[in-house]
Amino acid sequence: MQSPKFKILITGGAGFIGSNLSEYFLDKGHEVICLDNFATGHRYNIEHLLNNINYTLIEGDIRDFSDCQKAVKGVDYVLHQAALGSVPRSIIDPITTNDVNVSGFLNVLSAAKQANVKRFIFAASSSTYGDSESLPKIEEIIGKPLSPYAITKYVNELYADIFSKTYGIETIGLRYFNVFGRKQDPEGAYAAVIPKFVMQFMKHESPIINGDGNYSRDFTYIDNVIQMNELAMLTQDSRAINTVFNTAFGDRTTLNDLIKKLQFELSQFDPKIAEVEIVYGPNRVGDIPHSLASIDKAKKFLGYDPKFSMQEGLKESVKWYWENLK
Ligand code: NAD
Repeated sequence: MQSPKFKILITGGAGFIGSNLSEYFLDKGHEVICLDNFATGHRYNIEHLLNNINYTLIEGDIRDFSDCQKAVKGVDYVLHQAALGSVPRSIIDPITTNDVNVSGFLNVLSAAKQANVKRFIFAASSSTYGDSESLPKIEEIIGKPLSPYAITKYVNELYADIFSKTYGIETIGLRYFNVFGRKQDPEGAYAAVIPKFVMQFMKHESPIINGDGNYSRDFTYIDNVIQMNELAMLTQDSRAINTVFNTAFGDRTTLNDLIKKLQFELSQFDPKIAEVEIVYGPNRVGDIPHSLASIDKAKKFLGYDPKFSMQEGLKESVKWYWENLK
């Protein structure tokens, strides 16, 4: 039996995660609408999709309610990815971060509710665990946020919860843990560590680790995140709806280990990279020491089965960066 085809709105569809989701769902024959203002996303991430008859780009801003109304017309599912990421950015400019991540979120959610979409799935964040020291992180135990960014992502969860209870819209929040993979932007002041380190190694420049390198993260390859979005979209288990799920691999790697693995993988392409020195700098404000997800809830209620370990994902990513950005 052929699976049904859906119309899916991907906000932030020109960004790292959004453009990967777009490719995946187009490949499966679904219709994809992208709403993006290119604040941090790039046209080159989606250029190859523009001629696909199942793809529509709406250049617009989630802070503008009429743009959101236009984007949700006739849509079955919303995968809301648009936001201003980065803890440091939110510390420098909390007002813009709040406008986009909270007011923009509320606009997309309200428009989705008005349009009676089947379900609203959104990018939540592991930053919501804040100062809670318990490991592994389980969805029900969170601490106090440690940055304006973390506040915005937690407020998203609160709004989703209230909207599902008050208006009956189905929502699922996916708390992403340090996602990485093809198309993640290596440039700019707020680049994530993996693409930033890869680019520095490729240029034979020394990467700088904030702190002593013993901080650890549950680095999560993009294909595991795509799987979670699809499962969240398709689940019919009522226990999985109107709740949040950790979206991670369920293992943690220190920054020192990460950088060693990256250096090793990259030196397979260019042996000189093995000689690049690592530099250590001060810790960053708002960073938590350790982050590790329990993925039991996602396994139990969504049947999540991540296919890529951090190491396997890293191999794929390094190859992609080498082939595309060298
Ligand atoms: P990204 O910056 O690559 O993508 C975000 C996209 O949203 C960009 O294309 C950007 O142009 C768009 N955007 C920003 N402001 C907008 C606005 N006002 N109107 C319309 N579009 C707007 O980031 P990403 O890593 O792909 O992150 C996607 C989502 O996942 C974000 O919500 C982020 O907070 C969340 N998240 C990411 C990670 C991670 O490790 N990458 C971890 C936790 C949560």
